[in-house]
Amino acid sequence: MTANNFFSISEERRRILLVEDDYVNQETLKASLGDIYDIVVAETGEEALEIIRAQYETLSIVLLDLNLPGISGIDVLSRIKGDPGYSRLPVIVMTADNEAEVECLTLGAIDFIPKPYPASKVILARILRIIELSEDRETLRLTERDQLTGLYNKEFFYRYVAQLDLYHKDTPADAIVFDVNHFHTYNDRYGKTRGDEILKRIANNATSYVNEAGGIVCRSVADTFMLYCKHIDNYEALLARLSACLDDDSISENRVRLRMGVYVNADKNVDIERRFDRAKMAADTARDHLTAPIGLFNHSMRETEILEEQLIDGFHAALREKQFVVYYQPKFDIEQDVPVLSSAEALVRWKHPTLGLVSPGVFIPLFEKNGLIQELDQYVWSQTASKIRDWKERLNISLPVSVNVSRINLYDPELTDKLLNITKTNGLNAKNLLLEITESAYTEKTDQIITTVKNLRKHGFFIEMDDFGCGYSSLSMLIDMPIDALKLDIQFIRSAFKEQKDTRLLEAMIGLAKSFEVPTIAEGVETAEQYAELKAMGCNTIQGYYFSRPLPEDDFEKLIVKALKKEENEC
Ligand code: C2E
Ligand code: CA
Ligand code: CA
Repeated sequence: MTANNFFSISEERRRILLVEDDYVNQETLKASLGDIYDIVVAETGEEALEIIRAQYETLSIVLLDLNLPGISGIDVLSRIKGDPGYSRLPVIVMTADNEAEVECLTLGAIDFIPKPYPASKVILARILRIIELSEDRETLRLTERDQLTGLYNKEFFYRYVAQLDLYHKDTPADAIVFDVNHFHTYNDRYGKTRGDEILKRIANNATSYVNEAGGIVCRSVADTFMLYCKHIDNYEALLARLSACLDDDSISENRVRLRMGVYVNADKNVDIERRFDRAKMAADTARDHLTAPIGLFNHSMRETEILEEQLIDGFHAALREKQFVVYYQPKFDIEQDVPVLSSAEALVRWKHPTLGLVSPGVFIPLFEKNGLIQELDQYVWSQTASKIRDWKERLNISLPVSVNVSRINLYDPELTDKLLNITKTNGLNAKNLLLEITESAYTEKTDQIITTVKNLRKHGFFIEMDDFGCGYSSLSMLIDMPIDALKLDIQFIRSAFKEQKDTRLLEAMIGLAKSFEVPTIAEGVETAEQYAELKAMGCNTIQGYYFSRPLPEDDFEKLIVKALKKEENEC
């Protein structure tokens, strides 16, 4: 496929820039080529460069006479080839001086037409061939490159890494991942154009590094770059080089910082993608590390990797064998004098045959990365719904329970149907199964998420925005997003009540939610003092160790029976 086919303008005539001062030669070439091509003529080198600047996008090839008035043909050639913006334009040199051939080819000319001209058939065939070749090359360039930065995209990058390995089997190499600290905050604050500018600068720095030191680089996704290069020792110097000019005042008054993860002397027997996963793992340890934002893949990360493999490998058997168990943590309504049990949250644990009870903090982020979370979430929803039904049938207790809905589910067009199916199968209505959607989910592809959330609410589901205040906060979301409750993040509560207690923000947040008529739930409440203060601030519901830890279903059943009995007695 040629580039023109690629853009579906193959019917258009290709345009040739003919740089020739001799009138007779101009007319000869026009007669040979004019039927097939559009011809633009420049009579001097200056004029030629002017036309290239203005019409680069529409030119297919340059036919360049070496003998020109003003700047010479050689000069024009070296300027075209020396400018990264134009260097891809193929140039055929025309001269009577055979000696010049080698010099022109060295400078980047693609072919050479001797004067006096050969038969016009020969010239035509050569030009056509060269245009085709360069268009094929351009198509490849467009598919293998990232449009914004011009770097390779991830797929082609991996291919070229494989090639490098083939040619340099015994050369030690490093797999490196680097990205911008808090890039999403930067983007939100200064806008996408400035964000893009930063990414382009980083890409330029990285390109200049690999041009000099060897290796290849790509932008893998968003602000994440990958670099494969000969093993080096000084990663601080590399990081400084990649960060050059990012603090330029025209870009931002805030420092833009890169962080980097290195899989040093990457084992070439390990899958290429895995090598960069390791570098990424190392980069994650460098997060927020202001003085040395460089992480090296090490032994303990290797152990984490082994553990993760073990968890992923065991996932489906665990689902089949019901190794995932649901714990329940109560939520209490604190609006009255006496707290009233109002609902619960379903929290999954893994009773692993060899590892014992594994916390969701270990496996949920992992399954969120590889998509297994969708299956797990559905399992937990079903288990929870059937438990709610069981309590209803056996104990005549109707307690709504919230389940966690991981972000990836929100892109599933069948989400509402799946949830409705689960509630229906268990004879419940949508209000019995509350949905906690984590706040970070709201910051991506907002439109689609808003549509999904609206649809869920239309079918009667209650939506609780989870982890509010954990760093992705955008208060404007409260306006755009239809929600039924706001769950303040555990960290948020923690920092309000830490040693130098400062509850002003917490209070403001609760007040704000109230002004939007959205009830608040505080999680992670551990002490009587926290409980009393949150109550005084107007917080509606509380969840936390102060009342109870998450409990296995039997223990939780005892808790609800007792709580409801107590409530009855108090009535
Ligand atoms: P989360 O949704 O924010 O759940 C609250 C976490 O805080 C739970 O941790 C809970 O045990 C803990 N917690 C509650 N009260 C207190 C307290 O007073 N003090 C302290 N220190 N911690 C408290 P857990 O059970 O380890 O769950 C961790 C996270 O895993 C959950 O955070 C949730 O994001 C995720 N998760 C758990 N189960 C599921 C699930 O079925 N699906 C999905 N997608 N995520 C789940
Ligand atoms: Ca939750
Ligand atoms: Ca939470």
